Parts: sequence; C-alpha cells; structure tokens
Amino acid sequence: MDDQMRKNVDGKLGGKIKGQVLLADSPDYHEVRKIWNAMIDRHPAVIVRCADAGDVAPAIAFARENGLELSIRGAGHSIAGNSICNGGLMIDFSMMRRVQVDAGKRRAYVEPGATLRDFDGAAQAHRLATPVGINSTTGIAGLTLGGGFGWLTRRYGMTIDNLVSAEVVTADGKRKTASQTENEDLFWAIRGGGGNFGAVTRFEFELHPFGPEILAGLLVYPFEQAKQVLTQYRQFVQSAPEDLNVWALFRKAPPLPFLPESVHGKEIVAMPVFYAGDIDSGRKLIEPLRGFGTPYGEHIGPIPYVQWQQAFDALLTPGARNYWKSHNFTELSDAAIDVAIDYAARLPGEQCEIFFGLVAGAANRVPPDAMAYHYRDLKIVLNVHGRWTDAADDNRMIQWAREFFKASAPYASGGAYVNFMTEEETGRVAAAYGPNYEKLARIKAKYDPDNIFHLNQNIKPGR
Ligand SMILES: Cc1cc2nc3c(=O)[nH]c(=O)nc-3n(C[C@H](O)[C@H](O)[C@H](O)COP(=O)(O)OP(=O)(O)OC[C@H]3O[C@@H](n4cnc5c(N)ncnc54)[C@H](O)[C@@H]3O)c2cc1C
Repeated sequence: MDDQMRKNVDGKLGGKIKGQVLLADSPDYHEVRKIWNAMIDRHPAVIVRCADAGDVAPAIAFARENGLELSIRGAGHSIAGNSICNGGLMIDFSMMRRVQVDAGKRRAYVEPGATLRDFDGAAQAHRLATPVGINSTTGIAGLTLGGGFGWLTRRYGMTIDNLVSAEVVTADGKRKTASQTENEDLFWAIRGGGGNFGAVTRFEFELHPFGPEILAGLLVYPFEQAKQVLTQYRQFVQSAPEDLNVWALFRKAPPLPFLPESVHGKEIVAMPVFYAGDIDSGRKLIEPLRGFGTPYGEHIGPIPYVQWQQAFDALLTPGARNYWKSHNFTELSDAAIDVAIDYAARLPGEQCEIFFGLVAGAANRVPPDAMAYHYRDLKIVLNVHGRWTDAADDNRMIQWAREFFKASAPYASGGAYVNFMTEEETGRVAAAYGPNYEKLARIKAKYDPDNIFHLNQNIKPGR
C-alpha cells in the first residue's frame, strides 16, 4: 500500500470506524483474511472489521472514493472465495455475531457474522429452530442470501422462506429495511439474489417450536450395493413424510467407531437420517432403510438437534482445498444413479464426496416468482465435492469433479444453486435465476447501478 493510501486510511476512514481497520502489517491481518476454502489466498489492501452496522457506510464510501474493489465476508464459507478481494477493501462481519431471540414472538434477530452454530444455539435455548445448513461453521449471511437448505427444509422450507426482514446498507450508504411492507423489491431480491444488493447488517427470522431432541444418525452400506440402495432410496423418499429427511452420499469410509476397521478407507454408500417428529414414530419409519442392502453398520438414536447440526463439522474443517459443483434434480433417473456410481468408484481422494441432498417438501409449495430464488420444483440437490490438502493434487481433483459434473448434466433438471457455485461459473448465474433474472437485473440497477457489490455470483445492472 502506498503512503498516500495509508494516510487516507488514517485520516478518512480510521476515525469513522468503531471496530478495527486492518492493513497488511496489522497483527491480525493474516488471520482475518483467511477463509474456509484454502484454495483462495487473497490480500485485501484494507479490512474493515465492523463493530456495528454504523461501520458499513463509511467503509463503502471509502472504497468508492479510492476506487477499491469491495468484498463482504460473513463467516467466509464462500466456495468461490467471493468474500475476499485482492488489493481492495473487505468488509468483515466476524465481530458481529449476536443472535437475539424473542421467544414470545418466535423471532430471531441475527447479526451478519453469526455462524449456524451461533444461530442454532440461541434458538434452541428456547426450543426453537428454523432451517439452515448442515455444517455449524457456515455463515448465516451468505447461506441465507443464496437460499439455504438443510435437514429442516422438507418441513419448514428454505432459509429464505423463513426470512421476515433484513436491514441492508445499499451502495449509496443508506440503511434500509427490506420486508413485505418496506422496500419490497429489495426484499424480493435478497432472498436468493446473494450479496448483489447491499451489505446486510441484520436478519430477522421466523422460528418454529422444535427440539431439543431428535432421532438422527447414519447408516452405512457396502459400495457394491450402491445401485440397489439408491434405487430403493429413490422410491422410499417419494412417499416419506416431510418430518423425515434422508440424504445419500458416496465417499471413502472415515474411521467411524461403529464401522469394522476393515471398512475404513473403502468406498461406501452412507445415508444420514434425520427425523423431526417423536422418537418412536421415527424408529418405525426408518426401519425399511435397513433392508435396502446389508449395512456395514449404523449409528442412529436420539440426539440433541444442536449436536446433530455439528455432527459433520469434523469432515469439513477449514483449511483444506475445495472444489464443488452441483446440479438440481426434480427426479433421480437410473442414468443419474449410474453415472454417480461410476464416478464414486473413482473417488480421487479420501475427503471427496458425491451427495444427493433431499429438499422436496415445503420449499416446493412457494411460487417460483415469490422471490429471487426460482427453482421451486427442486427435489434433490447433487453436490460433487472435491476436497484435498496438497496443492500438487489440484488438477487431478478438479478434473474429476468437472468430468462428473459434465457427465451428470444430461440427467439434471437445469438451474443451479448459487451457494454451491465456483468462481469460474459466472456463465451459470443467469441460469441460476431462470425467468427471475431480468427482474433481478432491474432491481440491481435501482440499488447498485455501478455494480460496486460485484464480488458474488454477479447480477449485472439491467433495464
Ligand atoms: C462446509 C460447508 C457446508 C455448507 N453446507 C451448506 C448447506 O448445508 N446448505 C446450504 O444451503 N449451503 C451450504 N453451504 C454453502 C453456503 O451456503 C455458502 O458457502 C455461503 O456463501 C456461506 O456463507 P458465509 O457467510 O459463511 O460465506 P462468506 O464467504 O462470508 O460470504 C459468501 C458471499 O455472501 C455474500 N455475503 C456474505 N455476507 C454478506 C452480508 N452481510 N451482506 C451482503 N452479502 C454478504 C457475499 O457476496 C460473499 O461473497 C456450505 C458451505 C460450506 C463451506
């Protein structure tokens, strides 16, 4: 950074920020610039660590006045790495993690640096919950703005279906409320439109009475039985009640204590099971799953919901290299199952995964034009997850993920989920919104005509 910029930071920015302003030689700079995906290694010129919503407008103004590219970091789980810029200004919300719950009103008021763990913990203290993702380290902000789905989605819809209002600082530095009654167009756009429309400084969610104990766990089958297991899975989930969620995934077996040692490291089919009703009914409902094959083992039982929300964290810790790709499915054809099995037989690393996540349910009952997120016919999300630690493996891992993505494309139903897209998929952004894209482009032109919020799956200002 040149001396002039340093003077500008000291003189024009520093005094206006209650939180911290970090430069490359600040003690915490390197810690704060790290994000979850270790493939992304960027160096912002300035990091503004906001203490409250009042810090956002001066940060935006400073970036604009100095021609600095702007990025926004919630909890830094963007696969594409969009939360961090090179040589620009990063607004970092990691010091704003408060979650306030009004149990009487069943509402949560959430700051944008909160993780799912922060959110679930605060809501469950009152036996309340709303659907969020399946790893507790993920940020509520990025997850919500792109859509958000997890174990409770079948029952209560996507995270955005439970958003009541948001406070947004737009490109002009003004703080606006977005809801069904105020700035309705902005509210429509932020529910799926990502970080394109401004910096969200507060989310208000509807909460549902839930927990604290659920029935959940994992069933593991031999990979050789994959076809019969997946075919029966497809049939089973078509009529399974929405309180029950079952996903299906391929990976190499981690050293789980309930699996024989001889299975560790081998390809397996695993089925995470989640039941949101009473434990005994759940036990009966999941009984048929055991007959899908001859399971290597299982670990299913009553567990606190918050604990289940953290159950997969150990497999997805920060600091590894990650390359994800994803397709939407309205139905799982034989060909889709076959191609997944084919690539699962060639998993290039022990942390790589292919999963089918079941979404069908409440989310399908929202009209496709009700908000920015369009694909309301989505039943199953496929994610191919390349994950490894050594940079020397980059090409091999990425190639496997890309090839599988391409091979499975003919059987997918179209569209995309912006939260699972990589940096290079800008060509898919319009497809991710389908017929909602044009309206989004018009709203973008109204709230961010200069496209200063462009480090995201970018929607260009249109007419
Ligand atoms: C381990 C892991 C598990 C996941 N599991 C799920 C899952 O179960 N379900 C699911 O739906 N998704 C899941 N995802 C995807 C996840 O939803 C996205 O990665 C999401 O972007 C993460 O949000 P974040 O705040 O942590 O990310 P960040 O990297 O901080 O932000 C991502 C982007 O969101 C925007 N943004 C963030 N905060 C703000 C803000 N306050 N105002 C405006 N824009 C903002 C910015 O454009 C930013 O680039 C998972 C991702 C990971 C890495």
